[in-house]
Amino acid sequence: MSTAVVLFTQDLRLHDNPALHAARTSADQVVPLFVLDPAVAAAGFAAPNRQAFLADCLADLDASLRRIGSRLTVRHGDPAEQVAQVAAAHGAATVHAAAGVSAFATRRERALRRALGERLHLHEGALTVVPPGRVTPAGRDHYAVFTPYHRAWRQAPRRPVLPAPRTLATPDGPPGEALPAAPAATSPGLPPGGESAARRLLRRWDPADYDRHHDDLAADATSRLSPYLHFGCLSAGELAHRTARHDTPGAEAFVRQLAWRDFHHQVLAARPDAAHADYRPRPGHWHQDEDELQAWREGRTGYPIVDAGLRQLAHEGWMHNRTRLLTASFLTKTLRLDWRAGAAHFLSLLVDGDVADNQLNWQWVAGTGTDTRPNRVLNPLRQAARYDPDGTYVRRWIPELAHLPAPAVHHPWTLPTPPAGYPAPLVPPTALAARMPAATGG
Ligand code: FAD
Repeated sequence: MSTAVVLFTQDLRLHDNPALHAARTSADQVVPLFVLDPAVAAAGFAAPNRQAFLADCLADLDASLRRIGSRLTVRHGDPAEQVAQVAAAHGAATVHAAAGVSAFATRRERALRRALGERLHLHEGALTVVPPGRVTPAGRDHYAVFTPYHRAWRQAPRRPVLPAPRTLATPDGPPGEALPAAPAATSPGLPPGGESAARRLLRRWDPADYDRHHDDLAADATSRLSPYLHFGCLSAGELAHRTARHDTPGAEAFVRQLAWRDFHHQVLAARPDAAHADYRPRPGHWHQDEDELQAWREGRTGYPIVDAGLRQLAHEGWMHNRTRLLTASFLTKTLRLDWRAGAAHFLSLLVDGDVADNQLNWQWVAGTGTDTRPNRVLNPLRQAARYDPDGTYVRRWIPELAHLPAPAVHHPWTLPTPPAGYPAPLVPPTALAARMPAATGG
């Protein structure tokens, strides 16, 4: 009887899982394995919100595996050592895993290769629609601009969507460790993790109006699939495939967002140091002000639309894309604080916090990344009037302003009696333009 190990990493699902599919079709028995790597916590990446979501994902994966005759083995420790031990204990001839993108994943894969040699099989296209490096411009290893990338991405061949296994034979063996528990201190409004929750959301998700409503802050009309994509509870390839069948402007706009996700992944795969170093350096650009940074983190800048976004982040571990853009623009372009401080705050809370998507979006907004208009600035007052015209989003997240109608709710400092408990603007509104370097944008 042949045995294979499947090492789950950022592909915590049964549907459309290339590593699981290859293990199952190449061996009689499969050992599903997840290794809790203490290096993730040591690198500061194990934020409580994501740990809680991960705990849900692993419990759900184990339950789904049990329904088809298998179970999840969980180990704690160095992935290469743990995988080698599990493979030896079961006499497994092969180990299958999804190919990763980040520097962290690449290091893990090198260690696995050293430990397992030819027995390791890494599967591309498990985490993105199009694998990083599959489309490249002539003479370069990655696209630095989204529009030409998107053109090439649309033409790139896709692998077929793979079915979830109906049965999975798993050998008896030494018991693994208990599934991890969620930490106590998390954001109160976190979504449930796991493939089952992802598929429930997917069944309800209709992209028909996405092109018209995705920027409407009060409508909250985006898919909210990002944490499930980050942990791989849902395959980006399957999502793109299912959405493209709709053939509507909404579906097209939605698939374009998945291309943005792939775009950032291919930049990070080619430039792993873009996780912390400027992609296009702007030396000497930033100033330091711990008080301003702390006010921004707490959602107390005095600009309601900015504060609403940051308070949504604290409460839900998630923020609407429009407020991610304008809170990041406010930090880097208005306050001129270093994007790394803002990105670190996002990563400490975001349940979808992802090195590729977070760091490279921050760089895009800060003007150190791939934006072809690096001096673009988002004016919080104009953005509020455009994307939260009746103030519903601000009132939802800022109780001190919940009694105010629009447009006053967006500039409470203009009222004869400014609302108690809400701060005055950190930057005087009259000074907004002066703080904006060669300002362009909305
Ligand atoms: P939808 O609008 O429904 O989009 C569908 C999917 O497309 C998303 O789930 C996501 O996977 C992808 N997507 C959408 N917009 C982008 C984008 N600009 N870049 C990359 N992928 C995109 N997204 C993350 O997944 N993790 C992060 O850590 C993250 N940090 C961000 C930081 C900043 C400063 C900014 C401006 C954006 C960031 N984003 C991040 C991208 C985007 O804001 C979120 O993916 C989106 O808001 C998630 O909500 P949704 O699933 O409802 O998105």
